[in-house]
Amino acid sequence: MQKPCMKKVPNETFGMVETDDTKIKKEVEEMNYADIKKVDVANGPGVRVSLFVSGCTHHCKNCFNPETWDFHYGKAFTSFTIQEIVEYLKPDYIKGLTLLGGDPVEPQNQEALLPLLEAVKKAYPQKSIWCYTGYDFDKDILGEMWENGSVTKTFFSYIDVLVDGEFKEELKDLGLKFKGSANQRTILVQESLEKGEIVLYPL
Ligand code: SF4
Repeated sequence: MQKPCMKKVPNETFGMVETDDTKIKKEVEEMNYADIKKVDVANGPGVRVSLFVSGCTHHCKNCFNPETWDFHYGKAFTSFTIQEIVEYLKPDYIKGLTLLGGDPVEPQNQEALLPLLEAVKKAYPQKSIWCYTGYDFDKDILGEMWENGSVTKTFFSYIDVLVDGEFKEELKDLGLKFKGSANQRTILVQESLEKGEIVLYPL
């Protein structure tokens, strides 16, 4: 697995001035991101804010965003980025946040995203959080990652809907809502965890 970006972030990027690198790391784990869309209607219901993180180890054939495979691609994700996203989510017409990439569920990205998830749920408990991943929910995430991932259970406590599975070119279907290939599922995470079986989001 590739290593996450170890690039130092200029202190002025943060709202508070931090001179100690350890303090900065504590504030936000290191991660890069490719883009933030303030108005996105393609990746979840309603008008949403979307964050495209950097780093993906799946390398699906004909991936829609191959530049984001590199964990070093794009800009540093900082506490300023979090404040920005929280602000973008403010208008009533914004129905929620979508995480995609890259893969937000890569273990190091989960850690980096936790402060954002906490901030968004606290500020807007009524807005939904969707997440896209190349991992399978039951096979990969609820397996070893669930047992050994340091923040996986906490990370998923904030996710309402997970679109899971790698993009498979041979199963590509442009008619599918919110996903690229027929193997991918749109999973209600909290309901699935509660029931102990996959519960799908009604499309
Ligand atoms: S999981 Fe998503 S970002 Fe990663 S290679 Fe597959 S399609 Fe691309």
